[in-house]
Amino acid sequence: MKMEKYSIGMGDRFAHEGEAQLEAVILAQKMGVEVTPVWNKSFREHTIIGSEPGQTRAAADAAVRACDWQGAYFCDADHIGLKTVDFFIAACDFYTIDVADFIGEPAPPQEVAAFVQALPAAALQGVERATGLTLSTAMVAEIAQKYLLAVLQAGAIYRHIRERRKGDFVVEVSMDETLSPQTPVELFFILGGLAQQGIPVATIAPKFSGRFNKGVDYVGDTAQFAREFEQDVAVLKLAVQSFSLPPGLKLSVHSGSDKFSLYPHIHAVLERHDAGVHLKTAGTTWLEELVGLAEAGGDGLSLVKKVYAQAVGRYDELAKPYATVIDIDAQQLPAPEAVNGWDAVKFATSLRHNPHHPNYNKHLRQLLHVSFKIAAEMGSDYVQALKVHRNAIARNVTENLYERHIKPVFMGSR
Ligand SMILES: [Zn+2]
Repeated sequence: MKMEKYSIGMGDRFAHEGEAQLEAVILAQKMGVEVTPVWNKSFREHTIIGSEPGQTRAAADAAVRACDWQGAYFCDADHIGLKTVDFFIAACDFYTIDVADFIGEPAPPQEVAAFVQALPAAALQGVERATGLTLSTAMVAEIAQKYLLAVLQAGAIYRHIRERRKGDFVVEVSMDETLSPQTPVELFFILGGLAQQGIPVATIAPKFSGRFNKGVDYVGDTAQFAREFEQDVAVLKLAVQSFSLPPGLKLSVHSGSDKFSLYPHIHAVLERHDAGVHLKTAGTTWLEELVGLAEAGGDGLSLVKKVYAQAVGRYDELAKPYATVIDIDAQQLPAPEAVNGWDAVKFATSLRHNPHHPNYNKHLRQLLHVSFKIAAEMGSDYVQALKVHRNAIARNVTENLYERHIKPVFMGSR
C-alpha cells in the first residue's frame, strides 16, 4: 500500500484530540500542501493507558467524519513485534515493524552468504558511486552479519500480518530504538535485505546520530544530522532502483516529539531531492492537553498541578521505561509546593515548548511527557476535564501541530 509524499504521525493518548489534530492537516491543505494523517499508538502506550487499537480507530474514523476529511488516513500499530502484533490486526492499516532488538545478533553464515550472493552487481557499484566508498565483499558481509537477523525478523513479522489481515496495509520498518545509528551504507544494504524478503516497505525509520529525547529538542550536531539525512535520502532513491522497492519509499523520522532544530534541515533536503518524509510525533499532543488545561485555569489548572505533584513523587517509576530517551536533571524540577502557587500563564509557559520563553523548563516538560500514566489513573476525572476544557485544549493541539511541526517540515518558511 502506497503512502503519499508527506505524512504525519500523531499520537492521541486519550483519543479525544482527533479533530483538533486533523484541523492542523486541513490548515496545510488550505495552503496547498497535502499531508496524510496517521494516528499512531504503541503497545507500550496502550498498556500504560489500558486502551485498545479499536479505540484509536474509532476516534480516527469519528474525526474524519466530523471534519469531512476526504483524503487518505491510517492507524499505525507503532513499534510492533511478533509478540504484540496480533493485538493490532483488526484495527490498523499501517504497521511499524520494530526489529531494533535483533540488530547485532549474528545471522546464520549460510543466510549471510545467500544475501551477499543475491545482491545485484549494479547495486554495489551504485552505492559506491553515491557514497564515494569502495566496498569489498567482506565489508558487505560484515554489514549483513550485523543486520540480517533483524531483516529476517522483519520478513517473518510482515508475512505474519499478511496472512492474518484482510485488506491492504502500509509497512514501516523501524530500527530507531537502538544505541548506535545506522550509516547510509548500512541503510542501503538493510533495504536490499528487506527487498529480498519481499517486504513492500513504504517507510523506514533508521536511528540517526544524536539524541532524540522525549518531548524536547534534538541534542547533537545538527549539521552532521543534515548530512546524514541527505545521504539517507539519496540512498533510499538508489535502493528503490537497485532493488525494485516501492517508488514512494521514504524516511520516517521518529521525533520523540519536537525536534525543532532539525526541521529546517529536513525541509531543505526534501526540497533539494524532491523527496517525501513521514514525521512521527506522539507525546507532543498529550502535553498540549496539559497546556490547554493549565491555560483554562480553575479546575483545569489544579488538575495539571495534581498530575505534576504525583509525577515528582513517582519519578523513578515513571522515568524507568523511558530511561534511554530522557535526560532530566531532578535539581531543575520545581518543587510541587512552588508549582501549586503558579497561575495559568506561569504553568502553560513553563510547559509549552517555546525554548525562547524565560519560563520554559525542559526538565518539567520531559517529566510530564512520560507521566500520562497518572492521567490514565485519574480515569473519568481526566477525560471529563478534556471535555469541559475542549476549546482551550483544541486550540493548543492544532496550533502546535501546524505551526511547530507541519509548517517547518513540509512547508518551510512559507
Ligand atoms: Zn520510534
